Amino acid sequence: MVKETILVVEDEKNIVELVKYNLEQEGYRVLTASKGDIGLDLARKQKPALILLDLMLPEIDGIEICKILKQDDQTSAIPIVMLTAKSQEADKVLGLELGADDYITKPFSPRELVARVKAVLRRAHEKPKAKILKVGQLELDVDKHLVTLKGKGVDLTSKEYDLLKTLLEAHGRVLSREILLDQVWGYDQSINIETRTVDMHIGQLRKKLKAESERIITVKNTGYRFEDGT
Ligand code: CA
Repeated sequence: MVKETILVVEDEKNIVELVKYNLEQEGYRVLTASKGDIGLDLARKQKPALILLDLMLPEIDGIEICKILKQDDQTSAIPIVMLTAKSQEADKVLGLELGADDYITKPFSPRELVARVKAVLRRAHEKPKAKILKVGQLELDVDKHLVTLKGKGVDLTSKEYDLLKTLLEAHGRVLSREILLDQVWGYDQSINIETRTVDMHIGQLRKKLKAESERIITVKNTGYRFEDGT
């Protein structure tokens, strides 16, 4: 069996050594980066099976790297496990919102680390990213960039489409307006756009989704979620 590659982005030497040693014992090939930009470069070039990403890094922090990786088509499918300290609860939540698959709190045991890595990889192998997102009478075909309601095409603008896709991919999780701005409008642009813009587009989307519009739920003072239960 081909050894899977794991990329470790972490600046603390002891942790890198501990992680590298234990993962290599399990048969993985381990690449390491002590800085975010090097990590990003390796992620793009080497396409690792999984990335262990430390939150606190010099220059670009883990949250930023997670965001960049998840927005880049080349790297968005690579599972990310965040390494966090106990004091970073809020960042941990943000990391998960941004698409990290799991997190490990420092200090952790090698056994815990290996178990988490294996679990995330197992999950990643089990379900290849769904190309069609289906909820109730609504279908979004990612490859065809097509949305249908009861089998009939729904005419969406590209932002409405991206917004719907982002909501569907969250599988019922709440997404804040800021996260939606980041993911739909992109990090660079979102700085200059008001969060109200999200509300406007949600309004348009609701109109177009007709019978399924009630699935878009406003979460007070936070953002939106898409109810995907039946
Ligand atoms: Ca660190």
